Amino acid sequence: MTPPERLLVAAIVGRPNVGKSTLFNRLAGRRIAIVADTPGVTRDRQEATASLGDLSFRVFDTAGLEEAAGDSTEARMRAQTDRAVADADVVLFLIDARAGVTPLDRHFGQALRATRKPVILLANKAEGRAGEAGVLEAYSLGLGEPVALSAEHGEGMVDLLDALLAHAPADADTAPSGDEGQDPGFSEEGSEGDDDEDAPAGPLQLAVVGRPNAGKSTLVNRLLGDERLLTGPEPGLTRDAISIDWSFEGQWIRLVDTAGMRRKARIEEDLERLSVRDSLDAVKMAQVVVLLIDGQRGLDRQDLTIAAHVAEEGRAMVLAVNKWDLVEDRARRLKEIEERLEISLTQVRGIPIVTLSALTGRHVDRLLPAVMQQYARWTRRLPTAQLNRFLAEAQELHPPPAVSGRRLRIRYATQVKARPPTFALFVNKPEELPDSYLRYLANGLRELFDLTGIPLRLMTRKGR
Ligand code: GDP
Ligand code: GDP
Repeated sequence: MTPPERLLVAAIVGRPNVGKSTLFNRLAGRRIAIVADTPGVTRDRQEATASLGDLSFRVFDTAGLEEAAGDSTEARMRAQTDRAVADADVVLFLIDARAGVTPLDRHFGQALRATRKPVILLANKAEGRAGEAGVLEAYSLGLGEPVALSAEHGEGMVDLLDALLAHAPADADTAPSGDEGQDPGFSEEGSEGDDDEDAPAGPLQLAVVGRPNAGKSTLVNRLLGDERLLTGPEPGLTRDAISIDWSFEGQWIRLVDTAGMRRKARIEEDLERLSVRDSLDAVKMAQVVVLLIDGQRGLDRQDLTIAAHVAEEGRAMVLAVNKWDLVEDRARRLKEIEERLEISLTQVRGIPIVTLSALTGRHVDRLLPAVMQQYARWTRRLPTAQLNRFLAEAQELHPPPAVSGRRLRIRYATQVKARPPTFALFVNKPEELPDSYLRYLANGLRELFDLTGIPLRLMTRKGR
């Protein structure tokens, strides 16, 4: 019974009255097919083949299920999301942009996020300008950029097509059917997972990077020796390991890519070059990066190159200054390092610095607490209301510049993701907002919301 080609399947989901049936009818044109549903569900469900541009896809409306599931909002929502998860490749989640985001929308949004199905957020009834505030507010659902739509007037269909194409698997048109049944565990998962939608929970991915002879191998052996080594090779063999897991105060930590250490035995002259490249590779796989430097040499240009790269990649970082046992004028050396960081790494203020000796073990116990602190900051989500209060105050204190007589205004901000914390700012003229103003805001956010040393991402968007 396998059809010759499998179309992308989209489910329309949302609370009552947001315009699901209207959208379904628009997408389906006149070719609405009423098909008998699976046993157990009393209502027929509407399903049709839709065309937008060159894309043909199957679309079904879950509104019928809503009624079949009875009175409880929870049950109706569950019925819709369960079905969407079971049968669809992508969920079209509708809200009413005129009404704004309601508690029920939030509830739905959370349940959908927990399913990890691709979701396209549609802010419907957005014809004219009536829905603008609601469209902006929709960002706060944490489901990415909303598509402004008017199902009734047929507006926004091109944007919907773009979003569908982005979510369509590359082989959507050609993949054979029979791979359904994804995410069977949804019912158990419920609406948890509010905070981990950006990555599944798992070990903290840690990389120790730095130049040859900074003491990386010594430090890793020390860390593993101090903690209970649960998997991986014996200490001393770490140079051949790809990744090592261990547990520290209940937190699983995975040490990623020890290639820099692995290559140690190879040709000495290549080491300098290799170490930077290895470091950059390791950074990609890590969430938190420990940049280890030799305290006797201080922070040099190559270290700063790696540090800048860590910040650019949006990873959290701790600077560990090793061989502290050999450093004589410690106060001066530390001050030097702090100043170099301050001057040369302006994009990330306040990276924690831990001075230690991997060889003697002194203060090595301070490293992982610093790592965990930065990890916690890196995963944080700021409440939208607080964020916007900050934004208003920051603009009052230092208004953005005026451009050709018209003052720039940031109307609204919302955190669109964590890891690293990423914010969308809605500006009347986004292209005019100077980088210096964004840095001012980033520094303010770091200070006020305990995000010291965390690379933040601020994106500007057009907003009236
Ligand atoms: P459902 O309960 O989610 O299926 O919602 P319906 O499709 O039945 O729509 C609910 C109401 O919203 C109806 O009165 C529609 O005419 C209206 N509606 C749907 N789409 C739009 C739209 O794009 N703009 C406006 N202004 N109204 C809409
Ligand atoms: P890697 O190339 O970064 O892995 O560096 P290693 O761990 O192999 O260390 C390079 C050299 O520095 C070795 O001779 C270590 O014994 C030495 N070393 C590492 N940490 C310390 C330290 O804290 N104090 C002192 N005095 N020597 C250290």
